[in-house]
Amino acid sequence: MLQSFYSYASHHPIPGHLPRPGPRLRTNCCPGVFAYKRSPPLPLPLPLSLFVLLQHTATPLPIRERKRRGRTKICCRGLERESEGDSNHSSGSSCCHWLTNPKKVMIMVDDFILGTFIASLLGFIFLYILRRSATTKADKRRRAVGAFNDEIRNDCVRSSENGEVRPEGGPETDVIVVGAGVAGAALAHTLGKDGRRVHVIERDLTEPDRIVGELLQPGGYLKLIELGLQDCVEEIDAQRVVGYALFKDGRNARLPYPLEKFHSDVSGRSFHNGRFIQRMREKAATLPNVRLEQGTVTSLLEENRTIKGVQYKTKTGQELKAYAPLTIVCDGCFSNLRRALCIPKVDVPSCFVGLVLENCKLPFPNHGHVILADPSPILFYPISSTEIRCLVDVPGQKLPPIANGEMANYLKTLVAPQVPPELYSSFIASIDKGNIRTMPNRNMPASPYPTPGALLMGDAFNMRHPLTGGGMTVALSDIVILRDLLKPLCDLNDSALLSRYLESFYTLRKPMASTINTLAGALYKVFRASPDQARKEMREACFGYLSLGGVCSTGPVALLSGLNPRPLSLVLHFFAVAIYGVGRLLLPFPSPKRLWIAARLILGASGIIFPIIKAEGVRQTFFPATVPAYYRAPPVQ
Ligand SMILES: Cc1cc2nc3c(=O)[nH]c(=O)nc-3n(C[C@H](O)[C@H](O)[C@H](O)COP(=O)(O)OP(=O)(O)OC[C@H]3O[C@@H](n4cnc5c(N)ncnc54)[C@H](O)[C@@H]3O)c2cc1C
Repeated sequence: MLQSFYSYASHHPIPGHLPRPGPRLRTNCCPGVFAYKRSPPLPLPLPLSLFVLLQHTATPLPIRERKRRGRTKICCRGLERESEGDSNHSSGSSCCHWLTNPKKVMIMVDDFILGTFIASLLGFIFLYILRRSATTKADKRRRAVGAFNDEIRNDCVRSSENGEVRPEGGPETDVIVVGAGVAGAALAHTLGKDGRRVHVIERDLTEPDRIVGELLQPGGYLKLIELGLQDCVEEIDAQRVVGYALFKDGRNARLPYPLEKFHSDVSGRSFHNGRFIQRMREKAATLPNVRLEQGTVTSLLEENRTIKGVQYKTKTGQELKAYAPLTIVCDGCFSNLRRALCIPKVDVPSCFVGLVLENCKLPFPNHGHVILADPSPILFYPISSTEIRCLVDVPGQKLPPIANGEMANYLKTLVAPQVPPELYSSFIASIDKGNIRTMPNRNMPASPYPTPGALLMGDAFNMRHPLTGGGMTVALSDIVILRDLLKPLCDLNDSALLSRYLESFYTLRKPMASTINTLAGALYKVFRASPDQARKEMREACFGYLSLGGVCSTGPVALLSGLNPRPLSLVLHFFAVAIYGVGRLLLPFPSPKRLWIAARLILGASGIIFPIIKAEGVRQTFFPATVPAYYRAPPVQ
């Protein structure tokens, strides 16, 4: 029976198990009787094989190997084998005299097989126990998550349109949200809709009047739909944006968003940032489990390295404390709280000077306009049916002062001559009106210290140059990811476990965030004027490449607009631009000077993109699936 079992098993190996047995050993004196050296006779599961190996080692048959004249001869009490061929049995097996007794050998071989059989049996039992305990654990986990998804919301976290609250008894708040700007307001509504009890603390609940966050890319609009907030761009005189127009030295190129595959409602939207935020705040505040309070958060409350809540000053100046298992800090680009939660590295390459133009029409209605001006780009886009936002990029951190008229002078003499003629008089009128606003443009790579009980979101967490208008798209995309991660969690109280689980957030957000961040940083560098000939060529190549149309324009525009969050595609387009530039330089006849410029162009392009990618994190950006946190499962509840 054993023989037929072995013969079956050796012809039906189990994938993933140990390799086939080692060389056959022939008994010295019984030509038809075989046993095996060391390796078990079957391809067995690993633990089982180890078990069998142990048994072999424990067997009272010491095996001694020695090499003689290039061939291995194995002598043992009872077994001998020639390593080459099935040649005659050892003639000089002096150590094997007693093997000449066939009866003894048979008994020994029988012992061996019996021992293996017992070991296998024990191995199977061992495996069975292991498997059973693993299955029980997995079942428990599945039941916990499944039950939550199906029913537990009824008595724990209720998901409903009107945000029903949990039964009484637990802590008062599940999540504290610091700041109700784009990220905070959208997050409060999203978590509130999922049944969380949210306490939002916002420094100023009146309608903000700012020059930031006015063009929502189509990718961001899709996220707004996913969050059920698309109605927040209604009734605020928001304008549809269907693409970009690029201007350089009197030439222009239209770069439409590739929206053919989407519903006709999907496009970019531009608006007054304050109106949009106010709509989201109102919508969040309609949920009974969302409490919106005016106050300034002054610090995070920490206990045993876990954030337990915040200390804040109310509108009336009262100092209060609020507690919750999770505090999400969305206090924007001037965040005071982020220092405790991430590497506070900030780079300010330039500032935007903002104006509002009236009584004029854009050369390309419903388009964002980018002028490749000197020293750096100028943007125009509609923010209502009668107003056009103009943002002038001024390199460096030091701006000409507004108060003494230096700024007006700078705009009139240096910038106005580069503005499209259709907009010129409105541009001058707007400067004369005097409503000039400024904002620093910051780069802040996402470098969090994963902290139990707290999370950063929005600009406080990660910023990129606003040239491509990607900030709100990244913030809304992050909220969708966080919402989905938190969904299976009923109880947020185990902060350490929750924090470990939420580490996957930092990886999951990478495709969208890195694509938009890298493109913004790279484009800003390419679009800036430079006296360097190689940089000039790169800028011209970029304009030329985008003007080619087809995939050369839709590819980069899809990346910029958040419709195609693929960092690899971005790198390919970036180097395609560089190669296009090299082609322009070297064709039809390359000269040594042009060859030198081409080499510097490639070097310059690498010098632009690689540091940005490095700051984003190569592994997380290009190989997110190799990051262990990517696979982290929600804590078992
Ligand atoms: C010049 C400029 C132009 C931009 N243009 C665009 C664009 O066209 N499209 C785009 O998508 N993105 C754009 N961005 C980026 C975009 O504005 C941000 O990504 C977005 O506003 C981030 O939202 P947030 O909620 O993180 O920050 P914010 O919207 O700034 O909100 C932060 C909130 O926190 C509150 N707050 C601050 N401190 C405290 C405190 N201590 N306690 C309580 N509350 C506090 C503030 O009052 C504010 O309401 C631009 C940025 C700049 C600088």
